[in-house]
This record gives sequence, C-alpha cells and structure tokens, in this order.
Amino acid sequence: MERIYIGMGSNLADPAEQLRSAIEALGQLPLTELVGVSAFYQSDSLLPGQPRYTNAVAALDSTLAPLDLLDALHAIENGRGRERLERWGPRTLDLDIVLFGDRLIDEPRLKVPHYHLQERAFVLYPLAELAPADLRLADGRSLSDLLAACPFVGLERLPSN
Ligand code: ATP
Ligand code: CA
Ligand code: CA
Repeated sequence: MERIYIGMGSNLADPAEQLRSAIEALGQLPLTELVGVSAFYQSDSLLPGQPRYTNAVAALDSTLAPLDLLDALHAIENGRGRERLERWGPRTLDLDIVLFGDRLIDEPRLKVPHYHLQERAFVLYPLAELAPADLRLADGRSLSDLLAACPFVGLERLPSN
C-alpha cells in the first residue's frame, strides 16, 4: 500500500462538478481507497486567454502499479469527454500523478514526482493540506521548501467543494 497524491484540474463544462465526479471515480478504483481531498482552488490558466481553472488534490492509498493507475486516470479523463488538442489547452478534466509513495519514476509515459510540481502553486498548496508537514519527496526535496519558493499568487481557495 502506498500513499499517492493526484492533482486534478478542469476549466471547461462546470469545473467544480468535473472535480466532484472525478473524486467519486477515484473512490471506485480497484485496490484503492480515497483517503482525502483538499479544498478546491481557482487558478489562472498557464496559457493566456483560457478560462480559470478549478484545482484540487486527492490522496489515495493503493496497491495499483503506477502505470496501471496512469491508465485508470486516463480512462476517467476520457470518460469526462477530455479531448487532447493543444498542449495545456482547455480541458474538462486533467488528472496527474503528483507523488507515488516514495518512488522516483522516470519512464517515457510517467515521471514522478510530477516534473512541474515546484512551479505550480495550484498543486503545492492543496497538496500541503493533505500531506504531513515534514513531507520529503523521493528526490530529497522538502514540501515546505517548495512552498516557501512558490508564492500563493493567482490562486484563490474556494469556501466549499
Ligand atoms: P503537464 O504534464 O504539464 O501538467 P498536461 O497534464 O496537460 O501537462 P497531458 O496531455 O495531460 O499533459 O499528459 C501528457 C502525458 O504526460 C500523458 O499522456 C502521460 O503519459 C504523461 N505523464 C508523465 N508524467 C505524468 C504524471 N506524473 N502524471 C500524469 N501524466 C504524466
Ligand atoms: Ca497537468
Ligand atoms: Ca495530465
């Protein structure tokens, strides 16, 4: 059993509802228990001219293999009508594996810790709600250092999920 953190984002078709249904789908994954969900946040999109995103992080305990979990996340995304057009384009649902236990994964289809974690306030701040305060990533970086280097900018914590 490993503790896994999933970053979720949506900026189309009722984003908060997209996240709620994604959370329900995560709770139904085989060999997996949903153990926590952060608050929902709104963030500016990475590319200009897109609607703002709604983001959250979920914590799972699972015995799924990492690539099997990735396939399952893609199936959930596709079930929500995700279309892959341009990179970082608007999407109904994006599910990324942020951390997977204390594993370092460097495969063509899967890099963990997620390679943009350090510059993404919309992942770090919700992650910090769920993770132990002294969390160290598999590569030795501490979550508190990453937070200190990533200001809470362009982000708004929503009062309810
Ligand atoms: P970004 O990776 O910058 O957040 P994105 O989420 O928009 O961008 P996608 O189009 O959703 O990118 O995914 C592209 C590919 O990234 C996926 O098909 C997947 O194989 C790969 N990938 C690599 N590492 C991860 C990870 N940790 N979690 C999810 N997908 C990953
Ligand atoms: Ca992403
Ligand atoms: Ca993704």
